[in-house]
Amino acid sequence: MCGIIAYIGNRKTTDVLLKGLYALEYRGYDSAGVALSDSQTTKIIRSVGRVSELEEKIKKEGNFSSMYGIAHTRWATNGEANLQNAHPHKVGQVTLVHNGIIENADILRKNLEGCGYIFQSNTDSEVAAALLDSLLRESDTLTALTKMKEELTGSYAFAIMIENDSNLYAIRKDSPLLIGVGDKEFFLASDITAIIEYTNQYFLLEPTEIAVLAKEEYKVYEEKQIITKELLTSESSGIDQQKNGYDHYMLKEIMEEPKVLKNLIDRYQDQEKQQELDLSNYQKIDIVACGSAMYAGMIGQSLIEKYADIQVNVFSASEYRYKKKFYDCNTLIMLISQSGETADTIAAMREAKKDGIETLGIVNNPDSTIARECDRIILTEAGVEIAVATTKAYILQVCVLALMSYVTATKKNLFDLRAGMDDFIKIPSLLENVLENQDEYKRIAAQLQDKESCFYIGRGIDYAICLEGSLKLKEVSYIHSEAYQAGELKHGTISLVEQDMPILCVITEKELKEKSISNLKETEARGAKGIIITTTKLDDFNNYLKIVVPTTTELTQSILVVPALQLLSYYVALNRGCDIDKPKNLAKSVTVE
Ligand code: GLU
Repeated sequence: MCGIIAYIGNRKTTDVLLKGLYALEYRGYDSAGVALSDSQTTKIIRSVGRVSELEEKIKKEGNFSSMYGIAHTRWATNGEANLQNAHPHKVGQVTLVHNGIIENADILRKNLEGCGYIFQSNTDSEVAAALLDSLLRESDTLTALTKMKEELTGSYAFAIMIENDSNLYAIRKDSPLLIGVGDKEFFLASDITAIIEYTNQYFLLEPTEIAVLAKEEYKVYEEKQIITKELLTSESSGIDQQKNGYDHYMLKEIMEEPKVLKNLIDRYQDQEKQQELDLSNYQKIDIVACGSAMYAGMIGQSLIEKYADIQVNVFSASEYRYKKKFYDCNTLIMLISQSGETADTIAAMREAKKDGIETLGIVNNPDSTIARECDRIILTEAGVEIAVATTKAYILQVCVLALMSYVTATKKNLFDLRAGMDDFIKIPSLLENVLENQDEYKRIAAQLQDKESCFYIGRGIDYAICLEGSLKLKEVSYIHSEAYQAGELKHGTISLVEQDMPILCVITEKELKEKSISNLKETEARGAKGIIITTTKLDDFNNYLKIVVPTTTELTQSILVVPALQLLSYYVALNRGCDIDKPKNLAKSVTVE
């Protein structure tokens, strides 16, 4: 979601900005733009759509010698995704790009209109630019930026240029922004991948601080005093932009799952390392996450409750932060987030920490806010995911939770140690078999691709699998799909079942097999077309279209089933001609509430 990159230094500014924007594309966006300055004149170029279109426009505009510049990929929150609303926004002497949402923008807009400002866009960001311009009329830059921070509510990361001033300025609150430090060159970026080609040295700006980047040096101010920031070193190797012969990153990333799973499982064969996964000290766990990470959490809930005998609740982070909490000193708050920058999950983490409750993060990005601020952290180490719809990072989240269940159950003497780890070790090669079955997924995709709507149904852990399967289909193919607890359908929603509507029934739990099949039959009696997703051991479904994956134990079974559903969604989207890696309206790193 939204990317910011800004540069001041001796390289060609447009090259650095465009490369940065390409590196940030994976976060999801709908328009892009740059502002270049030679300190007297500011040139703004914007476009709706892809960064490649912006690059074409920049080429057409010809050469503009710039000393520094700011750039942005926008994920619209206030005002539709059109050219007028694309960033950068220039008001008076201020040009800025913004990530976040200004919550008091309407009232500020009215006040500023009263002072004579006329707005060109519907964005909250342009309002912030006007506010700063008005403040600069009566005070110096540092005072104006301080007052701007006092007046704005909501979330923001701003990269700012001011006319006739050769510095870049940055402030932020609740939206990510880091400052990259090179040799006489400085960067602002939403994440390190945008600048890793030039430097791995960086620091994060705190909400109380103001950064000023000049040609030869940078300064950070807190309450108008210059402060020293400690530099961090990123281990990131950047984004591997190669598709390695695959047509889409989504497919490439699914096919990488066996390898990244093997790395994770190998890492946790070490008994000492396994201690990181031990949950036996807690009596209650609240898993807090959003989207796919929350659905991974639901699989974790089933496994941890059943095997490790600990009560687990799963919450959507956007709801959790506003609900009454029942945690105490025996509760663990587990935050799951691929990017580690999910705004709602960060807020839940900070609130728990403020209340003195222990936090554990499962994240993929080691340089992220959650990775830095959580009391304990488990890195999934899936590598950067470029496709917006998560696949390999989700699978590793599930695997971490399954390993946690196993390690904790073992510690509590509830589980046979050896049997468990052997199951995990077999998973990567079993998954390779699952991924080889491409013809099966293509065949079933052909049955789904022309449908308007479908259901995924299952019970227990199968329901959690359905949630992710259904979400993946919606995300990449735009087919309406709902995941339902198989037994719940008849309590109302079955009214939506129509002739030939596909109902994908996930059955991996032996005890629930007959029940789920009865529920599927109820829909078939109303014209629906059943498709079964099951395991070799449970498969006696001769008259059904089906996906069958190898049987393993309950602890690891979902790691084999979900990739099959990911591939199914991929082929449906492919057949429908969708923009698979960058689905419309979606952002990868959801940095606003
Ligand atoms: N709220 C701003 C807008 O809608 C910024 C959105 C973003 O973070 O990209 O333009």
